[in-house]
Amino acid sequence: MYEPGRIIDLLVPLYGMPVLRPSGDPLSELILTLLSQNTSDVNSGRAFISLMRRFPSWRAMAEAPLAEIEAAIRPGGLARQKAPRIQAVLRAVEARFPDFDLGVLCALPLEEVRAWLRSLPGVGPKTAACVLLFSLGFPALPVDTHVERVAKRLGLVPERMTAERAHGHLEALVRPSDYYIFHMLLIKHGRRTCSARRPACSRCPLVECPARAEPPVEAPAGPA
Ligand code: SF4
Repeated sequence: MYEPGRIIDLLVPLYGMPVLRPSGDPLSELILTLLSQNTSDVNSGRAFISLMRRFPSWRAMAEAPLAEIEAAIRPGGLARQKAPRIQAVLRAVEARFPDFDLGVLCALPLEEVRAWLRSLPGVGPKTAACVLLFSLGFPALPVDTHVERVAKRLGLVPERMTAERAHGHLEALVRPSDYYIFHMLLIKHGRRTCSARRPACSRCPLVECPARAEPPVEAPAGPA
């Protein structure tokens, strides 16, 4: 089985070295990640922009009629499910941080912040890890569908392990300083090479991958 560090070494020449620049805006990251659940980045990005344009403040969003939030996020899909979730999250945030400033979280212990994020409606391990890593710069490793699939094919995660459990499993295998790089490289590899239906193993540098598709067997040459 490849070491995670070796996987990074082999994928960097293909996709470049990802550089983490924490946004410092945890609440935007949280809402954007909630919007991205079960939809494409393009759609969730549109929904987020529409939401931010419609409301002048987080407080206005928290107090708005639900139908207004639903209308604003409609471009992202699943608006009827996501609107009440977003509003419930905003109200829970306001209950602990009345000024909606989550920047203070970076001064708290990682596991305390993770537990609080996980206590919010609709926030699972991936959403919590995205907020921790991308906006606060905490060492957390989000496991999305690409990371899960590629890690399972490479034998890093047991096939039957749930995505939820895979978070802790991969965090124990990968060096914390590599979490962002590993996450980004596996996503790129999953999108561009190791796709769900037709992995392009013939152009994959991970030649010792246990799931590598056998090269096609050459048909024996017939009589001339
Ligand atoms: S060898 Fe094939 S299955 Fe394995 S990581 Fe590469 S593309 Fe994916």
